[in-house]
Formats: sequence, structure tokens, C-alpha cells
Amino acid sequence: MPEGDALHRAARKLQVLVGERVAVETPNPRAAAAVSAAALDGRRLESVEAVGKNLLLRFEGGLVLRSHLRMSGRWQVVERGAERRGTPWLVLTGAEREALLWNGPVLELTARGARRLGPDILAEPPDLPAMVTNLRREHSSRELGDALLDQRLVSGIGNVWKAESLWRARLSPWLPLGEAGDEELERVLSEAAALMRASLEQRRPERAVYRRAGRPCPRCGGPIRSRGQGDANRTAYWCPGCQRGEGPSGA
Ligand SMILES: [Zn+2]
Repeated sequence: MPEGDALHRAARKLQVLVGERVAVETPNPRAAAAVSAAALDGRRLESVEAVGKNLLLRFEGGLVLRSHLRMSGRWQVVERGAERRGTPWLVLTGAEREALLWNGPVLELTARGARRLGPDILAEPPDLPAMVTNLRREHSSRELGDALLDQRLVSGIGNVWKAESLWRARLSPWLPLGEAGDEELERVLSEAAALMRASLEQRRPERAVYRRAGRPCPRCGGPIRSRGQGDANRTAYWCPGCQRGEGPSGA
């Protein structure tokens, strides 16, 4: 079958997930190395189209996942939770269905248009000073938690590790960048890098705040709070008792 046909058929199949927020996993280690599932996890899939020999999956926040199938790659759409044999490269799970990529030899995550991705949080070692410089170029009123998810500034941090690294660094997601010192920015980035590296190596760091709203903070015992943050309104989790900075404005 000509490659272009396979791509267009795949794009058609994947339309059922367009408009949904999808859970993203990369069970195959090579896929995990190529694409940060955490950066995509929980984002809305905005469109899927075949362009040239590539399938472009556009996610909210300007992230584009490029999948080139070569001869062996194949996208499949099944009922959510359907039994599977083997290890797919990538799994996108929506409310009722999931899309699986098998043998996807080329996978790449980029930011839309000319916008380039910031330094990779999973690089060894991560370029923390360059990330701090990028954060410093943003408006001083921008909230730290929102900025950490901006893939132009630092690429790879997703919503889970944003919440966990801020908790470890004792900084509120609502802290304006202008009120954070360079060493504090470096600290939270360094925590994010360590947590994500551990997660990649299957050491499963324990979660202190993510999806634990209303439960006691493991450090100070105060109640953990949650609230949507940023243009994409992704849920921030934090402990007002021990993370420095005010809460959300107007709350
Ligand atoms: Zn606390």
C-alpha cells in the first residue's frame, strides 16, 4: 500500500480523538527517549492531519507531534482499555477510545511554527542556566507554575512534575517570576530534572501534591489545594502552608 494512503487513513481514524484531552504514554523506551509523554499528557488534541509523509498531531499549547511511519509503522484505534499484545510506541487515551502507534520509527515533538523548544529538562546534564535565562526574559508578573509548562522556555515538564517539583522546591505555582530569585528558579528546575529522570528510569518518585487536593501535605500537614492555571487552565496543586508565594489572584 502506498505510504500516503496509509497516512491519510491513519489521520481519518484518529479524528475520533480530536477535541479530547488525552492521556499520553510511551511504553516503548525508544519512544520515551524521543518524546516526553509528560509534556503532552492531559492536553487537548486539536487536530490530526497527514502532511507529506508525516502525520502531524497538534496539541493545545502549540505542541506538534510528528509521526513518520516509514514502512513498518501503523496507527490503530481501539476501544479504551482493549486488550493488547506487544508494546506500542505511543498510546493516546481519550474518554472512550485509544489510539496506539506500533513500530513508529520516527517520532518528534516540536513547538508550532518558528517557535523553538527550550532546553530539554531530560538532557544529561540539563542546561539549567539557559532555562533560568529563558524564564528571566518572560514578564515579571507571569506565574512560575505557568511558565514551567511553556515548552519554549524549558521543554519536557508536564503537569505532574510541575506540581511535584514546585512542592519540593517549596515555591508556590502562583509566585510571580519577578519575585523568584535565580537560585530558586534553578532549584525548582533541578528538582524537576531529578524527578523526571527517576520517573524515566522507572523509579516512580512518590507524589506529594499532584491529584491530592484536600489531603494533608506530607511535609506540614496543611490541606493541599488545586486550581486551574494559565491559558490552558491546567490544574495546579500546591500546599499554601509550606510553598512560598501568595495563592491565585482573586481567590
Ligand atoms: Zn505543606
